[in-house]
Amino acid sequence: MRIYDVSVPISARMPMYPGDPGVDIRQWLSLEKGDPANVTAIYFGAHTGTHVDAPAHFIQGGGKLDSLNLNILLGQAYVIEIPADVIEITGSHIDTNCPNGAKRILFKTRNSAFWNEQTGQFHTDYTYISQQAAQRLVANGTQLVGIDYLSVEQFQSKRFATHETLLANGVVIIEGLDLRQVQAGVYELICLPLKIAEGSGDGAPARVVLRTLD
Ligand SMILES: [Zn+2]
Repeated sequence: MRIYDVSVPISARMPMYPGDPGVDIRQWLSLEKGDPANVTAIYFGAHTGTHVDAPAHFIQGGGKLDSLNLNILLGQAYVIEIPADVIEITGSHIDTNCPNGAKRILFKTRNSAFWNEQTGQFHTDYTYISQQAAQRLVANGTQLVGIDYLSVEQFQSKRFATHETLLANGVVIIEGLDLRQVQAGVYELICLPLKIAEGSGDGAPARVVLRTLD
């Protein structure tokens, strides 16, 4: 059995979705400075790095992160590889690539290569999921969708139709996956977002791993 860590490291130098809070990691207490322990203080937005979106992210009165069903976040998932020349994942990509009834689908796209960079630059031309594709996923019975960059939505979308279609139908979204090391196939997904109380419950960073089924 092999374990792939598909989470990105959280740091002040990681790419941020424009407008989101940055990351600030500081030494709060420090052994070196004579404190009794090392304690780090961490500040970041709920949609930092590898993270889960809850319905409350886009839907007024929608389910909060702590209401997500762990049965959806854990279990068999398909990694579907999308060719490197694709910018928009369409309904026909879903029809040709996604097995009917697949509960969890993670898209490996050209976006994963962005994680090779150390510059912290945010790419606006990332591959995204169209609303039509989102509708097809819902119709297929998909309960969880993941993508390998910081949004499932086309950059600067005004309507956020992909998010709304997925979240309104109870589909859990994982964004910011690093699928560079993972080949297309079936894996066991383990995705556990931080259990953050307060705030609007719109999302939380998660450690996400994939285990081979052998
Ligand atoms: Zn998000």
